[in-house]
Amino acid sequence: MTLGAALTTTRPAYQKYAVDVKASRIDGFGAFAAEPIPARLKIGEIRGESISVAEARIRATRHERIMIVELSARRAIDFSQSADPMRYTNHSCKANARLCIRQGRVEFYALRAIEPGEEITVNYGETHHQGQLACRCGAPGCAGWL
Ligand SMILES: [Zn+2]
Repeated sequence: MTLGAALTTTRPAYQKYAVDVKASRIDGFGAFAAEPIPARLKIGEIRGESISVAEARIRATRHERIMIVELSARRAIDFSQSADPMRYTNHSCKANARLCIRQGRVEFYALRAIEPGEEITVNYGETHHQGQLACRCGAPGCAGWL
C-alpha cells in the first residue's frame, strides 16, 4: 500500500476532497488532487499539536524538516506528527490554493478549479527561512527564494 492510499482511505470528515500524497517535483512529497476540486471551496485542513511559540522555536532548531504555523505571538501549532495529507502542501509563487488559519486549525481553500493529478500549492508568505531557501516552484515570475 502506498502512503497516499493509506492517507486517503482513512480520511476524516474535515478532509472535504480526496488528496494523494506523492513525490513532488517542487520538494519532497506534495499533496495532489485525487478528484476535481471546484474554485473557492474548502479542500481540507490540518490539525496538530498546540504549543507555545517559544517551544516552536526550540523544535524548529532541532529538526531539518518541520511544519509549524505560528497563530499569534504566543501560540503555535506543530503539524509534524499529523497524518493529514494537506500537511504536505508545498509552496508555489503561483499557488492554486490559500491557507486560512482559524481556531487552531489550518484550512485550505481552492483559489481556482483544480484538476485531478494537479499538485495543490499555497503561498507560504512569511517563513522562518528569511529568504535563505531556494524556491523550486517553477512558476512564471517565481520570487526565487522563500
Ligand atoms: Zn517560486
